[in-house]
Amino acid sequence: MSQQTKASESLMKTYNRLPLTVEKGMGSYLFDTDGKPYLDFTSGIATCNLGHQPQAVKQAVTEQLDSLWHCSNLFNIPKQEELANLLTKNSCFDEAFFCNSGTEANEAAIKLVRKWSGKESIVTFTNSFHGRTLGSLSATAQTKLHEGFGSMISGFHFLAFNDFESIAKIEELMPAAVMFELVQGEGGVRPADKEWINELIKVCKRNGILVIVDEVQTGIGRSGTLFAYEQYGFEPDVMTLAKGLGSGFPIGAMLAKSTVASTFGPGTHGSTFGGNPLASAAGVETIQQVIDLLPKVQEIAAYLDRELRGIAISKPSIVEVRGLGLLIGLEVEDAGPFLAKFREKDVLILTAGPNVLRILPPLIVSREEVNQFTTVLKELLQ
Ligand SMILES: *Cc1c(COP(=O)(O)O)cnc(C)c1O
Repeated sequence: MSQQTKASESLMKTYNRLPLTVEKGMGSYLFDTDGKPYLDFTSGIATCNLGHQPQAVKQAVTEQLDSLWHCSNLFNIPKQEELANLLTKNSCFDEAFFCNSGTEANEAAIKLVRKWSGKESIVTFTNSFHGRTLGSLSATAQTKLHEGFGSMISGFHFLAFNDFESIAKIEELMPAAVMFELVQGEGGVRPADKEWINELIKVCKRNGILVIVDEVQTGIGRSGTLFAYEQYGFEPDVMTLAKGLGSGFPIGAMLAKSTVASTFGPGTHGSTFGGNPLASAAGVETIQQVIDLLPKVQEIAAYLDRELRGIAISKPSIVEVRGLGLLIGLEVEDAGPFLAKFREKDVLILTAGPNVLRILPPLIVSREEVNQFTTVLKELLQ
């Protein structure tokens, strides 16, 4: 048995790993241990939005490494304040809480709306994904992920996504909050319908039901705007972020309107690492870079969308092209075999469920790189 196999056996088997060891990343490409390049349309699952080793973020983190790595949240952390200010100035929210991941951001949101409302009930939607810790897992309306873990946290009601009957049920339930993704990422790249969201928001506002958007995957420019809610024309009360926020540096955030945020006082919630100087430095530079990039993201996303729709017309094996910005789903009969076929042609993509190819180019992707991908796609659909 090789040394490598032995080392991997020390890992818990929570992931089925692909037969590829990545040693280096640069821009839109990953390189294996032989130095072979792969076009990376996975972006670390919507995390490396600025590509690999974005120079400005690298420099900001390097500068921070030279002054202070970590200090507790018992002290003022100027970089964290700067990031909070940048996020609130560029959104409809007033205050930010920092943590280290998407699931933690959702835990914070769940606690916040429970405390604010004095109620436990939260409505979430079928095929959602909100994370793996018990609160976020309880919120995740995919019961197969709950199996074996005993009882979930009480108070969650699962209703059908994009279904107007769910909205009527919400008025009966009168929950503390509704929580949803504007494009369900893990659940198959399913965008929320605009009319459905309009109606849902109307009912929530009328009844004082809080609206939490989980933008862990859709946020940080992935949808073509800094946050996806901007394209739906409403203001959520709470938003959660992680994945792309630190360009690969672990950081999560929960943002809220001040009326709701004010329920969190000293000692109500916390995190040792949350918003530490290194993570905050990565976050500040990432947000600034992404904001500057947005016009280009919209342009390249429109180009890729046109190309894909063009291919779909002549290739009936593509059932549907859907998504928002650079969070793209291609529905096919059987998605699984495509991953290895793409990899053999030096392109990396993901799936979302059994019949959706999930295409997540970095926001810096060029036309040439898009063409490299669509050329391979056309070959594979022959
Ligand atoms: C990935 C994801 C999460 C969980 O984030 P982690 O950082 O893995 O905890 C939560 N919600 C959505 C929408 C996600 O895509």
